[in-house]
Amino acid sequence: MTRPFNFSAGPANLPEEVLQQAASEMLDWHGSGMSVMEMSHRGKEFISICEQAEADFRELMAIPEDFSILFMQGGGLAENAIVPLNLSRGESADFVVSGSWSDKSQKEARKYCDVQIAASSEDSGYTSLAPAASWQLRPNARYVHICTNETINGVEFHELPDLKALGSNAPLVIDFSSHVASRPVDWSRVGLAFGGAQKNLGPAGVTLVVVRKDLLGHALPICPSAFNYKTVADNESMYNTPPTYAIYIAGLTFQWLKRQKEGQATGIAAIELRNQAKAQRLYDAIDHSSLYMNKVDKACRSRMNVPFLLRDESRNDAFLAGAKARGLLQLKGHKSVGGMRASIYNAMPMAGVEALVSYLQEFEKSHA
Ligand code: PMP
Repeated sequence: MTRPFNFSAGPANLPEEVLQQAASEMLDWHGSGMSVMEMSHRGKEFISICEQAEADFRELMAIPEDFSILFMQGGGLAENAIVPLNLSRGESADFVVSGSWSDKSQKEARKYCDVQIAASSEDSGYTSLAPAASWQLRPNARYVHICTNETINGVEFHELPDLKALGSNAPLVIDFSSHVASRPVDWSRVGLAFGGAQKNLGPAGVTLVVVRKDLLGHALPICPSAFNYKTVADNESMYNTPPTYAIYIAGLTFQWLKRQKEGQATGIAAIELRNQAKAQRLYDAIDHSSLYMNKVDKACRSRMNVPFLLRDESRNDAFLAGAKARGLLQLKGHKSVGGMRASIYNAMPMAGVEALVSYLQEFEKSHA
């Protein structure tokens, strides 16, 4: 069976190999007589799955030993509260607002600490990024928050800011929900990274947190125990029952990522090359058309989420119906920006992008 190409922003498509492996192991995982869903999280089978997933993620993303990897629940939106609960000490935090998600983050953090907007690109309609040199960073901020890929606005930091070079000693917090594992991360610039799994890694339900160990142990007294990073780290993500099945699927995705090759490159380096090529192909097609347009500054266009508008919006419904008929699913844009959005996460093959580009061209011709 050939499956349609699914451009959902999340929960999103998963590698077919991962789904097939999960299907084949559904009733009996490795001769245990149990589905992964039916295992105790404290049994040796699940502990081995969880340890392997963590080790594979550490290896793939080259995460140094002075960082803990936590599997949590609550998604990105819960992390908007959990981060200030753990890091702010009730004091202050600076936020760069580059789109809908970082804006939500700063609003939530206001419940727990004094928030300052260090920079905002709202005036551009979130189609650009304020240069790091222009950020207003406070010397006493407990952390600086950025969203490194704005899923709705289609804006991505292609390089992480070096806060030290900007004169700040605050740890950088990144929300990497929608591009986690799509490219390497320079951990020397990061204090904490969080992301839900449901775009690039697996099903909804597990949230990955990578946190520098020296930042643990400063949670506010009101912080729920299950959301205290130190408690979660001390209990190896098993303080409460973790989202076992979601961790298992994420683990299969890590193994799939490790197997990827492009020329000499393997793993994340390979997937990054493929993601660059896919995004380039799609943006080129949009930029060379007179029907479609993407408003984002070329310097910060997302490689994962490609929003685009039809210059004649009356054709939106026809566009989506034609796409669906061709097996190109979930292309409708987010309601706050309208138009279309093609999310081309790690699991989207180049063939899916080629199929979309052919459709874009054909639709434009037939409606000229
Ligand atoms: N941050 C970003 C960048 C996101 O894309 C999303 C989900 N689309 C969230 C946070 C919120 O994640 P969740 O729905 O898992 O809470």
